[in-house]
Amino acid sequence: MTTQSIAPHAAFDGDEPDASPRPSLDELLRPLIDAQPRVAAGPRSQWEWLQAGDWSLPAVISEQERPAGRLLHRFTREGSSHVDAVQLDDGVVALPFDPDRSYRRLVTERWRAGADVQALSTTQLRLYYRVKRLLPRRFWLSLRRAHARRMQLPAFPAWPFEPSVDQLLRFSAACRLHSAGRSEAQFIWFWPGRHRAAAILTHDVESADGLRRSLALADLEQERGLRSSFNLVAGDYPVDHGILRDLRDRGFEIGLHGLHHDRSLFSSRHEFERQLPLLADAARDLGAVGFRSPATHRRLEWLPELPVGYDCTVPHSDPYEPQPGGCTSIWPFLIDGMVELPYTLPQDHTLFTVLGRRSPQLWLEQLDRIEQRHGLVQCLSHPDRGYLGDADKRAMYASLLDALREREQLWKPLPREVAAWWRRRAAARACGGEFGRGIMRVDAGAAFAQLLPPPAP
Ligand SMILES: [Zn+2]
Repeated sequence: MTTQSIAPHAAFDGDEPDASPRPSLDELLRPLIDAQPRVAAGPRSQWEWLQAGDWSLPAVISEQERPAGRLLHRFTREGSSHVDAVQLDDGVVALPFDPDRSYRRLVTERWRAGADVQALSTTQLRLYYRVKRLLPRRFWLSLRRAHARRMQLPAFPAWPFEPSVDQLLRFSAACRLHSAGRSEAQFIWFWPGRHRAAAILTHDVESADGLRRSLALADLEQERGLRSSFNLVAGDYPVDHGILRDLRDRGFEIGLHGLHHDRSLFSSRHEFERQLPLLADAARDLGAVGFRSPATHRRLEWLPELPVGYDCTVPHSDPYEPQPGGCTSIWPFLIDGMVELPYTLPQDHTLFTVLGRRSPQLWLEQLDRIEQRHGLVQCLSHPDRGYLGDADKRAMYASLLDALREREQLWKPLPREVAAWWRRRAAARACGGEFGRGIMRVDAGAAFAQLLPPPAP
């Protein structure tokens, strides 16, 4: 597969409204120093893409003369001009853009407005769902495989791993440290205690047969001391409450995968509001805590209204979904109080069925990448036939579970526990107790900080 470039006309129209969701870098890093870099105040450009090596960043540039000082980092603008992050004589870093706005642009997927996204149009999607049931599954599979062979992977977000948010976070930590005149400071560590990273397992159950097959997956996980969530479609198939009780009694979690497995929920504001009370009833009936939208259809600004404790619909980077894109984060974030837990591993269906991979290698490599960067590993898979309901695919999933079991420094809770943790951490004021002392450290003149787990006592 080849890679296409970011669209040349990548200026975004307008700006986010004030009432838009406001996840912030502070909420992600939770630094325990006050110093901030200085953001230039000149007249602002439209949204545009900046490049620095392999780092792509949407930004609004304040058009102002470069202040005198030492070059910290250079960003290439569209065309061939550039802007610089500069360290002033007093140590403070002066930036030509606000990193928080860039972060919001990324995680809320508004970067899509300035990228050449190969998505299906609303009309195409409507047509697809109308004829989907009329043609056999293998027809759609061969179509998706052919499309995957033909499609060019987008330049942004890179797949399977897009470093943009990770780099922005370490860049902004470096700017803070330099501006404070320090080489080291504490922040509230990402995960409880000294865990290096976190991992959760989530399943979308597409049919009544899939629900029966959930028990085999649950066995596989429980044998390795792991637990997961099973997200059910409330209105498409009969739900066997005996199976739910069994799963719950064994420590598994139940979630909601929509009322119907189509794009109806986010098709219009009217339809969304019509379904909300029905979703609330379904969540109560199933004892569901979390939500994943069918086929990951989504409108991020509506997610906070869902009657659940967290959402896990947004991909880190997924060009293979009907609504391709991603938040490019490997950490949870809050959208107006709703915790979003991005899924960060390629889906089982993508890996084994669309791409025809015969090993779990790609999963294991992604696990390494995320653990090294201290993020959240989330595997999205399905218990149904054609997915992990097939013995060969289930065997590859078992290899991933083995790898997770071996990694003792990974925190392996239920999704709802990660969501609750992220809320507590966002409200915490200091380290201590369950909140470990993370260390951010930067070398003199370096543009990126290291983010280190709490040292051994
Ligand atoms: Zn599904």
